[in-house]
Amino acid sequence: MFVVFTGVSKKLETASKKAGCQSLQLWVKSASNHMYWVAASSGEDSELKLDKWKSIMNHIADKHTGHSDRFPKCAHGPIGERCWLEAGSKPYKVMDGIITSSYLLRDIGQLSPLYQTYYLEVFHNVVNHFAPKSIHFFHRAMLVRMYLSALHFNENSDKQQARTKEGRLQWRVNYPKAKKGATAAVKQVKVENTYGTFFIY
Ligand SMILES: [Zn+2]
Repeated sequence: MFVVFTGVSKKLETASKKAGCQSLQLWVKSASNHMYWVAASSGEDSELKLDKWKSIMNHIADKHTGHSDRFPKCAHGPIGERCWLEAGSKPYKVMDGIITSSYLLRDIGQLSPLYQTYYLEVFHNVVNHFAPKSIHFFHRAMLVRMYLSALHFNENSDKQQARTKEGRLQWRVNYPKAKKGATAAVKQVKVENTYGTFFIY
């Protein structure tokens, strides 16, 4: 799954370095967001996922209606000026080649609903904690660290939101690094981790 998400971003990033294609840089984040939205909003409906996904090629050319029977118009509200691409221009064609490649379309149809992706992401973070990529571990050590990751994840991944003494739900403001701290997001404060299933940390 991650391969699909990161693969498109990387391909667009690389393509934006081609002569005359710098404008693609401005659509990398949008394409990635769009993919998450397609995964999150379509259930198991592969056809709908594909129709939604392909609509981005109209959207980037400032065309927001007339996409397809299943997904006739963009779901966003009124939208301001963007760096629209002209249909048929070089960057448009390059992006089209990436967005509608047969390999990618096959994967898009099989995207899981978002919650699965979210938990996989959380699990990857846990693995990174117990087995940092910067350190080399031999097979047995790696295996044990994977076991620890799985135990920790199973015990703590479905935690309740923390409450104050007065019983109010706790929240915090987060500045995601991926957005270089420029965007704030409100996140739930979770109850503390527990370590009941193992003792080494
Ligand atoms: Zn649109």
